[in-house]
Amino acid sequence: MSDRFALVALPLPLATPYTYRIPETLGDRVLPGARVVVPVRRRELIGLVVAVDTAPPAATARDVLAVPDPEPALFPALLATAEWMAGYYAAPLGLTLKSILPGGMWGESQVIVSLRNGSRATGGVAGEVLAWLEKRGGEAAVSTAARALKRPLWDVLERLTRIDAVTLRVQPPDTRAAGLTERVLSLTEERPTLLEREALFKRRPKQQQLYETLEALGGSAPVRHLSEQLGFGEGVLNALVREGLARVARSEVLRDPFAGSPVSPPPTLLTPDQSVALSTISGLEPGDGALLFGVTGSGKTLVYLEAVRRVLAEGRGAIVLVPEIGLTPQTVSRFRGAFGDEIAVLHSGLSDGERADAWRLLRRGERRVAVGARSAVFAPVANLGVIVIDEEHEASYKNGETPRYHARDVASVRARLEGARLILGSATPSLETMVRAETKLQLLRLPQRVGARPMPPVEVIDLRVAPKVPGTGPVPWSEALDSGIVATLARREQALLLLNRRGYAAFLQCPECGEVWQCPHCSISLTVHQAPAGLRCHYCGHEEPLPPTCRACANPVQQMRGVGTQQLERMLADRYPDARIARMDLDTTSTKWSHQRILASVESGEIDLLIGTQMIAKGLDFPNVTLVGVVDADTGLYLPDSRAAERTFQLLAQVAGRAGRGPKGGRVLVQTRHPTHHALVWAQQHDTEGFLRQERGLRVDPPYPPTTSLVNLLLSGPDEGEVGRRAAVVADWCTALIERHRLPISVLGPAPCPLVRIKDRWRWHVLLKGPSKSLGGVVRYAARSFRREGSTRVVIDRDPVSLL
Ligand code: ADP
Ligand code: ZN
Repeated sequence: MSDRFALVALPLPLATPYTYRIPETLGDRVLPGARVVVPVRRRELIGLVVAVDTAPPAATARDVLAVPDPEPALFPALLATAEWMAGYYAAPLGLTLKSILPGGMWGESQVIVSLRNGSRATGGVAGEVLAWLEKRGGEAAVSTAARALKRPLWDVLERLTRIDAVTLRVQPPDTRAAGLTERVLSLTEERPTLLEREALFKRRPKQQQLYETLEALGGSAPVRHLSEQLGFGEGVLNALVREGLARVARSEVLRDPFAGSPVSPPPTLLTPDQSVALSTISGLEPGDGALLFGVTGSGKTLVYLEAVRRVLAEGRGAIVLVPEIGLTPQTVSRFRGAFGDEIAVLHSGLSDGERADAWRLLRRGERRVAVGARSAVFAPVANLGVIVIDEEHEASYKNGETPRYHARDVASVRARLEGARLILGSATPSLETMVRAETKLQLLRLPQRVGARPMPPVEVIDLRVAPKVPGTGPVPWSEALDSGIVATLARREQALLLLNRRGYAAFLQCPECGEVWQCPHCSISLTVHQAPAGLRCHYCGHEEPLPPTCRACANPVQQMRGVGTQQLERMLADRYPDARIARMDLDTTSTKWSHQRILASVESGEIDLLIGTQMIAKGLDFPNVTLVGVVDADTGLYLPDSRAAERTFQLLAQVAGRAGRGPKGGRVLVQTRHPTHHALVWAQQHDTEGFLRQERGLRVDPPYPPTTSLVNLLLSGPDEGEVGRRAAVVADWCTALIERHRLPISVLGPAPCPLVRIKDRWRWHVLLKGPSKSLGGVVRYAARSFRREGSTRVVIDRDPVSLL
């Protein structure tokens, strides 16, 4: 009999999979999608079979050593999805598969061999192995056994598996659950007024900082977070406890914060619009999709729930994608409330081992609904009936590293391959999706809020002329917004305040010579932070102390520019001393479940004012929030990116949608210096379609998606000159290829990226514009031709969502 071969993809940046020989004993289990142990140089790695019975290689092939799983880890449709991704995004198949299969199922995983009970009178090497295992308590890593017995063992183990003497399993590197409890520092009930505080914290600024940090964190925080991330010493913590202002308690570490949260049952009666949407979805051909375009508060979640319920009733499964799992606890708990044990929530808090477990449960059909962020689009849900993508416009659905896939497009391919239906939902659909709804997607509208609640009126405040409240320092604080907050607090209602800039101030500038403090590693100014104080880079994390004088002219006065959330919070605490304030941004949410803590305290009414970055604009449904204030609508308006206006519109419309969700109604106040910008004008009218129509017109000349498609070729490296030269070579290469094949593609650049340096790497790019199909051809060639040269890297970003 002639030898058989298999192609095996390895989780490495290799252009092509490797060929291995299939030993006869493993013949029936080396199947496409199966994990296998293979030798790579002098190591043994876990790889994934992508094809069997392939042509023999030119050189002699090494053997597949073992097949640890009883059945293939990836079923054919997922393997086909991976192959599509590798082709479309021009990424190595191995890296693509690596992004699909959870980390714990790869790489440095160990294969463990265990003895099975029963007689085993075997001689020879097999007997030696069994005896050795017996001595070791019946279980060991194969590599340890091989070292101890000084010989390769895979063939022996394979025979022993066949006669049921041992079993093999793959153990991910980290299966240990993290510590089960942690110490948490919480403020006590008695909160001093601002005046009392002044007396209390006189000459104790560190304690005041800690106190205010805790307040900003929603009243409590894990001690480890305070000491390790925020740099508070044990002494300060103890002092606050001694003063009776805070206490320490042990609290259980939340492994899954969604598990225990109580949920109210979903409404039982659909609105007429919801019913129409649902029956249209049920009537979709398998593989087809719909855009559920429903205003904020129109009840999109209930449509998703019912669509999933129907799919489950047919005995099929579902995937539900949300932008960021930590930010959407309400959506997740609604699904959990409806489907309980059918759900596997794939969140970032899972250890590798837990994630692998969730995978297996889904793979075996013991869970039928996967809920998670971007990568949950690969959940091994068997017999897939529907994929739901909530807030489909969110940029977080695009992967930031190779393969640079967009979960929406992957979902569409996967749905077609598996005959599932696709539901994209949003109140502010992306322009691309809206255009696709003219041809490929069914457009479903929910034009009204549930219960005929009105959309909240949006008032635009022109900061250039509006009267400003004295004593609020550099914070843009109009009288209108001020009286809005005062009235909301007086009625014991809640307000959200959006300021999409974290830190204390955007940058530090010398008023004398104009010098701005820049990151030494990135082409970006350093952000001023308080508590703990310092200058920080938001790209690379570089930190330095606040300088006492200008480094250029030694002028002692330094000016902070561009108010951030910390400064806003300080001002609010001064101005509304009785208000209970929380802040939600990357600085207050760096521990695993801090989002939930903060949002839960808003939900339970412990917080009056929630300040936040774009984090607070997503999907929250708090009926007692009657005021939404946008402190500065202009923070992202003029970024050098073709999507800046769209992003600003979405952010404004989404945050406005958090107001007036309950019977008390609500209003929105937006402060800006550009009241006539179309993003603001249409957001004020809650008119997404009006905005998209105008925005589409603006992307015709020069063309940007959806008028054309884009590929961004991004070059980066430590040597500025070298990166520029490589960029020119890449651009020339593209131009030559395009001319040779007469492709309808234009080449822009090479040019430095707007962010020309990040983490000590210079960045240049070449932008290709043209029809997607032609770009696909170029990209495939490019992937084979561009090699890493020296330390300069080339990244191919197809359908980029950001050009910064
Ligand atoms: P969206 O996601 O479209 O912004 P939600 O799904 O959060 O809106 O729904 C808004 C509110 O309306 C929620 O509190 C939800 O429970 C409620 N709701 C949705 N559908 C119905 C219905 N058919 N009857 C009564 N209440 C509903
Ligand atoms: Zn930096």
